[in-house]
Amino acid sequence: MSSSSTSNQNDSLEDNETQNENLNIDGKKKRGGSQKKSWVWEWFESDETGSICQVEVIIGQLCNKYYKNGSSTGNLITHLASKHQITEGIKKQDFVVRKKA
Ligand SMILES: [Zn+2]
Repeated sequence: MSSSSTSNQNDSLEDNETQNENLNIDGKKKRGGSQKKSWVWEWFESDETGSICQVEVIIGQLCNKYYKNGSSTGNLITHLASKHQITEGIKKQDFVVRKKA
């Protein structure tokens, strides 16, 4: 006599339905570069934090006047005009750097 025990194996199938909805938004728009670059950028160098005056006050020495980001170009223009007598139309090659005495 033998008794056999049957083990019930419950195979639970987990239905993992993963729906990955990859929405490819293909609506990248490039803003039209209609913004005119101001002439002040001939004289100023801008980075992530601000703009630095690149006018040579004397040979080998830059002005390095710093303007924080957000400063309007009007401020830069005023600086160029009052400190360096530079106005729109003056090209870098026309600007005479004072020689060191
Ligand atoms: Zn300057």
